[in-house]
Amino acid sequence: MRKSIDLAIVGLGAMGSSAAYHLSKRDKSVVAFDLSTPPHLLGSSHGQSRIIREAYFEHPLYVPIVQKSYERWSDLQAAYGERLILTTGGLLLGPNNGTLIAGTRLSADRHKLDYDILSAKEIRKHYPVIQPDDSTVGVWEPRAGILLPEKCLEAHLKLAQQQGADLHFEEPVTEWKPDGDGVRLKTTQGEYRAQQLLLAPGPWLSAFIPELALPITVERQVLYWFEPIDRREDFELDRLPIFAWEYAPGALFYGFPNLGDGVKVALHHQGEITDIESINREVSPVEIEAMRLLVNAMIPNLAGPLIKTEVCMYTNTPDGHFIIDFHPDVPQVLISSACSGHGFKFAAVLGEILADLVVDKKSEFDLSPFRISRLLNQSK
Ligand SMILES: Cc1cc2nc3c(=O)[nH]c(=O)nc-3n(C[C@H](O)[C@H](O)[C@H](O)COP(=O)(O)OP(=O)(O)OC[C@H]3O[C@@H](n4cnc5c(N)ncnc54)[C@H](O)[C@@H]3O)c2cc1C
Repeated sequence: MRKSIDLAIVGLGAMGSSAAYHLSKRDKSVVAFDLSTPPHLLGSSHGQSRIIREAYFEHPLYVPIVQKSYERWSDLQAAYGERLILTTGGLLLGPNNGTLIAGTRLSADRHKLDYDILSAKEIRKHYPVIQPDDSTVGVWEPRAGILLPEKCLEAHLKLAQQQGADLHFEEPVTEWKPDGDGVRLKTTQGEYRAQQLLLAPGPWLSAFIPELALPITVERQVLYWFEPIDRREDFELDRLPIFAWEYAPGALFYGFPNLGDGVKVALHHQGEITDIESINREVSPVEIEAMRLLVNAMIPNLAGPLIKTEVCMYTNTPDGHFIIDFHPDVPQVLISSACSGHGFKFAAVLGEILADLVVDKKSEFDLSPFRISRLLNQSK
C-alpha cells in the first residue's frame, strides 16, 4: 500500500488532465492514471483540431461555461508558452429554421453575442470554396476557432506534473471500491488509497460504474483529411473559418482550414454505435467513398486525394448533455464524462469546476443539467 492522497484520477484525456492541473494548482496531492501515454489515439481526445464556438446551438446554458473556458484556455496558453487556440471565426450553414442556425441564433440572442447573418450569395462570395444553394443561410460568429487537442493535453499534463501531480502512464486502473470515507484503487502495478476519486475514463466509463447501468452509448466517429484539388489558398487558415453545415435535417458535416496536413472534415454523429472493446479502428474503402461523394457535392474543390483517416469515439447520453456529478451512492467519487461529442472546448473550465467540486463540493455554475439522477432507470 502506498501513501494516502487527496484525489486519485482515472483517465488523463481532456477531462482528467485538466482536473489534474487545477487540483495540483491548489496544492492538493493528486495521483492520476492512464492506461496509455496521453495524448494517444485510443480514446476521444485526438485528431489535431477541435472546434470551440460561443453561440452554442446545442443549448444556451452552455454559453457562460464556454465563455469561462475561453478564459481558462487563454490562461493555459500563457502558462505553457505555446499556441493552443487559433481564432478563425466560425461559419455555420443550413436552413434558417434548422437545428444549427436556429439554435445558434437563440444562444447568441439570449446572451447578446455578436454575429452576422450571411445569405448564400454572400457566403459564396466571401468563401468561394463553399458553394451553398440559395435556400441556405449562414451565421458568422467571430470568436469561434480551433483548439489543438494534443497540445492542450500536453500542456495540462506537463504543468500538473510541475505542480507536483503524480502521473502514472501505462498503468490501467483495474478496480475501485469505497474504503471508509475514502476510496481504494487497484492498478496493474499497485494499490492506492485516496480521499476522493475522479472517474474520467471517457468511452470506458460504463465498465467503472456497472452498478448504475447508465444509458450511455459509444459512437464510432471517423475523421478524414483531404487534399484540395483546386483553390488551395482558399482552404488556408487565414481564409477559411471552421465551418459546420446542416446539409439535411439534423445531419451535420463540419470541417477546418488546412493546418498543414490537409483539410479535416467529418460528420457529427451518424456513426456506428459500438463499444470500447470491439470498436472497428479501420476505415473501409466504402466509408471513404461515401465521404468523398459528400465532399464532392458540398465543397467540390476539396475532393482531391485522401491524406489520412482516424477513428475516434463519442460517449453519448440520451439528451446530449454531459455527466458531471458525484456517484449517487458513493459521494467521495466524482464522475466527469459522456461529453456526447462536444466536450473538448469545455475541458479547460471543467477541470476547474471539478477542482471546485472536490474541494468545496459546489460550483459557481448550475450543474443540474449534468446530474446522474436524470439518467437512472433509463434503458439505452
Ligand atoms: C471525432 C471527434 C471530434 C470531436 N470534435 C469536438 C469538437 O470539435 N469540439 C468539442 O468541444 N468536442 C469535440 N469532441 C468531443 C471531445 O473531444 C470529447 O468530449 C473529449 O475529448 C472527451 O475527453 P475525455 O477526457 O472524457 O475522454 P478521453 O479523451 O477518451 O480520455 C479518457 C482517458 O481514460 C483513459 N482510461 C480508460 N480506461 C482506463 C483505465 N482502466 N485506467 C486508466 N486510464 C484509463 C484512456 O486511456 C483515456 O486517455 C470530439 C470528439 C471526437 C471523437
